[in-house]
Amino acid sequence: MNKVLNEAISIFDDVVEIRRDIHSHPEQGNKEFRTSAIIKEKLNEYGVDEILSPTETGVIGVIKGKKGEGKTVGLRCDMDALPVEEETNLPFKSQVKGEMHACGHDMHVAMMLGNARILCKMRDNFTGTVKLIFEPSEEIQPGGARKIIDSGMVDDVDAFFGLHVNPTKNDVGKICLRKGSTATSADEVYIKVHGKSGHGSTPHKANDAILAACQLNVLLGQIQSRNIDPLETCILTVNVIEGGIKSNVIADTCNLIATIRAYTQETREIAIQKIHDICRGVEKISGCKVEEDIRLGYDAMINDSRLVEIISDYYKKELGGDFYKKMEEPFGGSEDFSFFSTKTGKPAVLMFLSAGHVKGMPVSTLHSPNCTFDEEAMKYGMAAMTNAALAILEK
Ligand SMILES: [Zn+2]
Ligand SMILES: [Zn+2]
Repeated sequence: MNKVLNEAISIFDDVVEIRRDIHSHPEQGNKEFRTSAIIKEKLNEYGVDEILSPTETGVIGVIKGKKGEGKTVGLRCDMDALPVEEETNLPFKSQVKGEMHACGHDMHVAMMLGNARILCKMRDNFTGTVKLIFEPSEEIQPGGARKIIDSGMVDDVDAFFGLHVNPTKNDVGKICLRKGSTATSADEVYIKVHGKSGHGSTPHKANDAILAACQLNVLLGQIQSRNIDPLETCILTVNVIEGGIKSNVIADTCNLIATIRAYTQETREIAIQKIHDICRGVEKISGCKVEEDIRLGYDAMINDSRLVEIISDYYKKELGGDFYKKMEEPFGGSEDFSFFSTKTGKPAVLMFLSAGHVKGMPVSTLHSPNCTFDEEAMKYGMAAMTNAALAILEK
């Protein structure tokens, strides 16, 4: 059996214990003080070469291979919980009211500590360096990744790997990999329409902000069908429209809030340009002033194809072809792990781990108060990330 998987199985009980402890003490973005302290304590215990603090709660553990100089690989996990009230009856359920590890970041931290322990033990087998990146505040814009990159502490990393658990009905432990577009970008659009109020019976003397807002909504909805390549996807939905006060008063203001998600930077840019164009057009025909504020969120995640090939060949050789599968469709959510590639210019791969669910409970989605995982999956998650690092460092 693959040496890493063997090690992962042998430390599994400890990894489960760490995961349950973190799960019962969730901490939201940038407040991961307890989690951060546990990470540092464990990294110290496992004997990493260096422990860095790129942000107040972020941690980087550095492990140097003893076979000599070589490349540097960054393995990243996120650490934060969500403002969700846990509804499971698990014995290790959240002890904090209104907070829960509903996105599996507790699993990510536990697995990453497992990776640290395995890699410390396997130091003699590889060249170069592994940086284990524990990123705070992935769930809250602007995300923790940017701050870690800005710290300069990952400047020397040649390739980044990230892993996210995914609740599934079966397939527990399967690694899902994809080349190219893997997760969407996510931006917010705030539009304010300023019209001119008037009596409901004399619309010709007013500039109706609500009518303009409705036109904006319809035109924004046409971006996907008329401006984007039919083989590409741009999700643009207006999810808030607020305006007006009374049946006989024409509204002078109306606000819209929308979200845009795209799988490529090109599609995202087309959509953003079209939003500006549509706002100018509606401004002209409605007589209203339209102010749009597009707040850029996370970039789209584009997995480096060459890196996917390197690690899948390595998995096949070390663990067999069944260890992973091709992910047919990209993930519908967004992940700030994308910045480790777009902001550094280095190749990166985000993989997904089919993580089942607790038997007897329904399969639920990430961020749900009933989200559970089968902890068995963590063995394979550790094997995937540590072997990905070795695939680069053993070359
Ligand atoms: Zn999440
Ligand atoms: Zn997440």
